[in-house]
Amino acid sequence: MTSSILNADLHCHSVVSDGTLTPEQLAARAKANGVELWALTDHDEVGGQDRALAAAHANGMKYLTGTEISVTFANKTVHIVGLGFDAHDEQLQTGLHRTRGGRSERAQEMSDGLAKVGIHGAFDGALKYAGNHKLISRTHFARFLVETGVCQDTNEVFRRFLTEGNPGFVPHRWASLKDAVQWIVQAKGMAVIAHPARYGFTPNEEFALFTEFKNHGGQGVEVVTGSHTPAEYVTYADMAKEFDLFASRGSDFHSPLESRIDLGTLPWLPGQLTPVWEALADRVQ
Ligand code: AMP
Ligand code: MN
Ligand code: MN
Ligand code: MN
Repeated sequence: MTSSILNADLHCHSVVSDGTLTPEQLAARAKANGVELWALTDHDEVGGQDRALAAAHANGMKYLTGTEISVTFANKTVHIVGLGFDAHDEQLQTGLHRTRGGRSERAQEMSDGLAKVGIHGAFDGALKYAGNHKLISRTHFARFLVETGVCQDTNEVFRRFLTEGNPGFVPHRWASLKDAVQWIVQAKGMAVIAHPARYGFTPNEEFALFTEFKNHGGQGVEVVTGSHTPAEYVTYADMAKEFDLFASRGSDFHSPLESRIDLGTLPWLPGQLTPVWEALADRVQ
């Protein structure tokens, strides 16, 4: 696996977090779309990893373990993907457990906020969509508000209700950047900055994120992701070179009905970058 021309999809979500497909359904879909190397990266969870590995092998795909950790940095939520770690590492599991904590209380507050603008029953409504009741996420609220006809699609829900300044938004403190990176690295994995263009950071804030991430032992950045435009592939290819980071590729697929980009259908990584799977060759299963 020494080429950037490899159909690797190293970012997606199952019912273990906020996706709508099981790990087995995702594996079959990835295979049908030509994926050769796959990682399931549920938010703040590794509960689907053993199933995903088995399903990858059943479909003749190579597998890297994965997760996507929620981090608070510069008062914003940043996502750090972990790849190729030992999914049974105790420190990582405890850290993820702690990061998941507080989601139920937050969801109750979100529901209270929505009730004030006349949307009732959102907590129970969202919970119905959560395959993992310990991991109730904004995505589950979004599905409930679409189902009940309050909004046309999940994008509209986020815009009107679930982002800062809107009635269903509740600020939350996630893991620190340092902890998230160290949990991954100490479990023998690689930490990767997820979809950097999504955060709306100023150039100074972004420089701080990349610099601190590297200082803590982070080694990768997503360049080609379902959350980036083609122009952003170029921007973050340059950032990968500037910061000497390995480059990753992943759809961030959540659902056949909601996701714009399907598993395994993104452009190749730009050729001048070193892909994360080259550095993780001995962690591929
Ligand atoms: P949470 O971890 O509960 O804050 O939820 C974050 C999740 O919401 C992300 O992982 C995305 O799946 C989803 N999300 C965030 N922003 C948007 C958006 N603008 N449109 C659709 N989904 C979004
Ligand atoms: Mn998500
Ligand atoms: Mn993310
Ligand atoms: Mn994601």
